[in-house]
Amino acid sequence: MPCSEKSKHKISIFRKLRSGIPCGRFLSALLLLFLLSFCLSGCRKQDSSAQVSDVGFYFDTVVELRLNGTDDSKLIEECFKMMGQYESLLSRTREGSDVWRINHSAGEPVEVSDDTAALITLAQKYYELSDGAFDITIAPYVTIWDFQNNPGNVPADASIAAARIHVGFPLLHLDGNIVTLDDPRAAIDLGGIAKGYIADRLKAYLVGEGITSGYINLGGNMLAIGTKPGDIPWNIGIRKPFAEASDIITAVKVNGLSVVTSGPYERYFEKNGTIYHHILDPKSGYPVWNGLSSVTILSSSSADGDALSTACFVLGLERGMELIESLDGIEALFITDDEELHYSSNFPHDTD
Ligand code: AMP
Ligand code: MG
Repeated sequence: MPCSEKSKHKISIFRKLRSGIPCGRFLSALLLLFLLSFCLSGCRKQDSSAQVSDVGFYFDTVVELRLNGTDDSKLIEECFKMMGQYESLLSRTREGSDVWRINHSAGEPVEVSDDTAALITLAQKYYELSDGAFDITIAPYVTIWDFQNNPGNVPADASIAAARIHVGFPLLHLDGNIVTLDDPRAAIDLGGIAKGYIADRLKAYLVGEGITSGYINLGGNMLAIGTKPGDIPWNIGIRKPFAEASDIITAVKVNGLSVVTSGPYERYFEKNGTIYHHILDPKSGYPVWNGLSSVTILSSSSADGDALSTACFVLGLERGMELIESLDGIEALFITDDEELHYSSNFPHDTD
């Protein structure tokens, strides 16, 4: 992005802040990014090599990129450009996006991009692996709850029940790049998987450009590139559920891996002492409460980590852990409401 466009983008971030994005969430995300940067960069003075980093606002969240061993800020500008393109393709609410066209197709076939087709294929894999816990056809519920803008209105049971008959992955068909929804009122939402997929694509681009050290942080979806200079693993903080964004319950050291966390505290409202949050049970249409307060997935692919963090949150500790233990190269940390930490067999952590 040229310099002038970049400053326009930054101005638009703060315009968004003034015009409706919840200030508390924005500020706590910024604070988290600041602390994360501090945590990740460690002793900066020891490392005299070049480094570029920048912060932006995409996918309704704060994003941050840091690249070591280069001073080429054009790489970051290109990544922001890619994020803008993915947003235009995958957003549920942006008119003309692939997802918007699918959701407004009234049952007619829609031709989509290779990226959208790849994401739907991956979503189907996780729908099947999770026995329906991860289901991108939850969009009719998402529209009713509208956690993005909801000031605290609990939808009527009748409207959730009415939406339920339009939800279910079998209503969606993908044939090559052609998507068809059997039910004109069915719709999809890629919010549970898109950020991970985009992070993987950004990393592939950066690695192709010769970057061997850095990280991509899409609103807490972390994807590391290699290690810190000096072959020091990245130390990624895992947030204490419902605490201040800066309150880290534990941390994990990674080399080139993705660390993705799903939790109710990321998007919720409270009404009459009850918390209503954005991770929904596809079978009921209501927020999932099963004793979990977050799930973190460690994987090489961030798309896998993203889908699995959402899926495992819905599945709960027992079934979620069973799924993780059945998968090669994927580890998980489940945090229960009592703040107990439950690790999968090979999750790297201190045992004392
Ligand atoms: P994440 O933060 O990755 O767990 O994603 C949560 C987002 O995924 C929500 O804000 C919804 O857009 C979407 N979502 C909610 N429940 C589900 C579900 N059961 N399966 C797939 N996507 C979901
Ligand atoms: Mg997810």
